[in-house]
Amino acid sequence: MRVSAPASLEGPLVVPEKTLMGPGPSNAHPRVLEAQKLPLLGHLHPEFCKIMDECKDGIRYMFQTENRVTLALSSTGHGGMEAVMCNMLEPGDTILIANNGIWGERSADMARRHGAVVHELKEPAGSAFFLQSIRAALDVYKPCLLFVTHGESSTGVVQNLEGIGDACKEHGCLFAVDTVASLGGTPFLADEWGVDVVYTGSQKVLGAPPGTAPISLSDAAWQKVVNRKTPIRSFYFDLTWLANYWGCDEGPRKYHHTGPISGVYALREALAVSCAAGLESLWERHSRCARRLFAGLAEIGLRPFVETESFRLPTVTTVSVPDGVNWKAVIGYCMNTYKVEIAGGLGPTAGKVWRVGLMGVNATEERVDLVLRALREALAQASI
Ligand code: PMP
Repeated sequence: MRVSAPASLEGPLVVPEKTLMGPGPSNAHPRVLEAQKLPLLGHLHPEFCKIMDECKDGIRYMFQTENRVTLALSSTGHGGMEAVMCNMLEPGDTILIANNGIWGERSADMARRHGAVVHELKEPAGSAFFLQSIRAALDVYKPCLLFVTHGESSTGVVQNLEGIGDACKEHGCLFAVDTVASLGGTPFLADEWGVDVVYTGSQKVLGAPPGTAPISLSDAAWQKVVNRKTPIRSFYFDLTWLANYWGCDEGPRKYHHTGPISGVYALREALAVSCAAGLESLWERHSRCARRLFAGLAEIGLRPFVETESFRLPTVTTVSVPDGVNWKAVIGYCMNTYKVEIAGGLGPTAGKVWRVGLMGVNATEERVDLVLRALREALAQASI
């Protein structure tokens, strides 16, 4: 034997309990953790296909859509973005990206890699887009796809999506939305708002482990995919294959890849927990907890990064780091003392903010109070 078995793998796996109150992953519901202990099934067994069908029902509810093509990608949220770009764009197609943070930047990067002509409508970090400016940009650039991030988790901004779908339709443009950081925590109505493609991640409000990414396509979006002149450049994210594997076409289901069996169980249970709570109650709880957090932050002298109240995303709150405060030391204190994760900024907010996530099982009064206590003590530490 040339390479010996590593000593690092001799003992059993030990993982500490932490309260994950950054921008994700968030903690899982016990039902979700339990589901992952269940026996494995084959990826085309009828019992597993039924579980996939149940996931599709839950995803339709969460997105508020009746779209036939609704499934979960075997990927994290980035895979949802990649799937949008590689299925919806052909080389030379024009896309308009509403860019007010890192997800605008990344989606533009991905769209360029897929050979699209990319135009960006920009707003500074901490701000959102007004319908008039989106309309004006649609007039000028005449894109075939508009991409908007609903919850910009790098800046803590929620984008009002009402009216954008109608504007897109008037311009013969399809409407794609990233709801990775927002779905379940703030209202989102795919069909009512005329959204053509939407995706999310499993590890935020849903509280499943990272690794599955729900996605849904309107009939118009599906027509664009099936009428492409050029092949979809990614085999793995080819939605025509995936729609078949997920039973969204006339079938029979064919092997495309081996679905992440336990990850799909976890997603099924996470969706079941969210569906049992109901969307209205989830939205209300996330909004109530975010308001409690803002009030508590003000009491300890911390300012929200997003000045306009209506732009604040309830699931990820950005807090301005006061001058002279060592933001990393504050994060370290919260983790070392309370095993609470809060995160620093990302992209345009790096070094400027803390990001506090209130998602899924972490969107409770107790957890808000815990994070406030940790922050208050951290700021009072002489060493910081
Ligand atoms: N979009 C948004 C809005 C996000 O917040 C994230 C994750 N923070 C992603 C996309 C990417 O998701 P993932 O890290 O699961 O690939």
